[in-house]
Amino acid sequence: MGRQFRRMKTAIRNPRAAMVRAFREVRPVYRGRGTCPICESEVTFKATHAWYRDGLFCSRCRSIPRERALMQVIQDWYPDWNRSSVHESSPEDRAASARLASECVDYCASQYDPSTPWGEMDPTNQWRSEDLEHQTFADERFDLVITQDVFEHIFDIDSAFSEIARTLKPGGAHIFTTPLVNGRGLTEQCARRQEDGTIEHLREPEYHRNPMDRNEGSLVTWHYGYDIVDRIRDACGLDTTIVLLDDVSRGLSADYLEVMVTRKPVRGTA
Ligand SMILES: [Zn+2]
Repeated sequence: MGRQFRRMKTAIRNPRAAMVRAFREVRPVYRGRGTCPICESEVTFKATHAWYRDGLFCSRCRSIPRERALMQVIQDWYPDWNRSSVHESSPEDRAASARLASECVDYCASQYDPSTPWGEMDPTNQWRSEDLEHQTFADERFDLVITQDVFEHIFDIDSAFSEIARTLKPGGAHIFTTPLVNGRGLTEQCARRQEDGTIEHLREPEYHRNPMDRNEGSLVTWHYGYDIVDRIRDACGLDTTIVLLDDVSRGLSADYLEVMVTRKPVRGTA
């Protein structure tokens, strides 16, 4: 209902854009049947523009490819995920996050929310206020830590990787997505936080949509390459596997679909 209403408002304000959109709905750039790894149903995957990563939707749960890739990797690597203790930082209120929240026996959502004291639940009791760089969780608290397109917005990634490793139980893993836009090129810092708290931009500022900040969005602080695995190992000593799935029958086809799995060894096997 909300979406219909927003479309009507768009049509009144910008009839040409509405016509282009309506045309794409009728003749999408891709439409195909398959099984969605998140809602586990026979669905139609449909894209109305060529940038599949944010636009190849599941007709049932409205998930996008990177969310389905994350869920598929969780399922493949940790089939007991629903019996696990899970921390998800900055979850969405849909798709993979919604499934994890509803099915995991112990699921803790956190948001970077400086207006709520670190470690406390927000007034609506929906999430815990946490700074990934300085977390208040106890050591070895979680089986899985999940972050979806968060790490390209963090300043001190070494602290964040190290803190996540600290909170993982032996045998646990940080499973995450972040676009590896630099591919075989080197990881590159785009913006850094100076000692006085001001931000120094090392290249033209770039922002991504952020549900917590609808005005400006989140500043992109890093462009990662495959060498992210070296950075993680240097930061916390853990090894990372980059998993790239390509299976259009599960809606897994898009640029930057890599899912990272950083595993903490079971004690005695390190
Ligand atoms: Zn789905």
